[in-house]
Amino acid sequence: MLNDEELEKYRKVGKLLAEVREQVRPLVKVGTKLVEIAETTEDLIRQKGVEPAFPCNVSVNEIAAHYSPPATDDAVIKEGDVVKVDMGAHLDGYIADTAFTVAIGEKEDLVRTVEQALEAAINVVKPGIDVGEIGKAVEGVAKAAGLKPIRNLTGHSLARWDLHAGLTIPNVDERTGQKLKVGDVIALEPFVTDGAGYVEDQKRAYIFRYLREVPTRLRMSRELLRDIRRRYDGLPFAERWLAKRMSKLRLELTLRELSGIGALWPYYVLAERAGGKVAQAEHTMIVTEQGCEVTTR
Ligand code: MN
Ligand code: MN
Repeated sequence: MLNDEELEKYRKVGKLLAEVREQVRPLVKVGTKLVEIAETTEDLIRQKGVEPAFPCNVSVNEIAAHYSPPATDDAVIKEGDVVKVDMGAHLDGYIADTAFTVAIGEKEDLVRTVEQALEAAINVVKPGIDVGEIGKAVEGVAKAAGLKPIRNLTGHSLARWDLHAGLTIPNVDERTGQKLKVGDVIALEPFVTDGAGYVEDQKRAYIFRYLREVPTRLRMSRELLRDIRRRYDGLPFAERWLAKRMSKLRLELTLRELSGIGALWPYYVLAERAGGKVAQAEHTMIVTEQGCEVTTR
């Protein structure tokens, strides 16, 4: 259960993040650089007096998630793109997580469907349900539109300083044995696609999380790891946030080395298996006696 102070923090950070989301939405148009969307989002979060809980993800078309553009990415939004913007903020470790999709051109049905799927999912949330009921609602809406939910991407519970706090909430109909209870804080994030309905890891990562101290040979690596621990302990960070510290090549090599020895967790870019376009919508909510209170409306 949450006490009043915790509730207030979840509500406040959720409301501020919803404001950021609506300020960023009009930027998602032809010609805007992806990195500008990410940096504007993170700047607006800080201007509101809270902190990014993870790097802003700007994932385009068949890239479903985990793409946070590096500082050197000069890609811009093009006609026909399906652009997902996923953002998080925290206030003293209490997190809000929300996402939206803009389709430039014909793929508006993907966006409409994923938004309907999220609303259907929110409507089934109440204490005592198996979280598989949420997946059933998402899958039903996706299939009715002739689309597929992505099976291996899920929603999750949240806790203080913890983005994935234990509950895994499917986007397909399956019994999990995991039940919701009053005071659970959860993020529901359906993904729908016109592709195969699965994502696969790519080899590249631009988002990482500190895992543990591991001895390294190079002093530069040791110092970077120590700094990462001090600044981002437990929460994900972007390669871009470290871009001023060393050359791009050196930074990439160091992050790869630290991931390889188990000091960092790399979040590999996730791409739709069949190359289908992917849309996502996400809200954070608190489970109440009657249902839930969405914090990111
Ligand atoms: Mn998210
Ligand atoms: Mn999430």
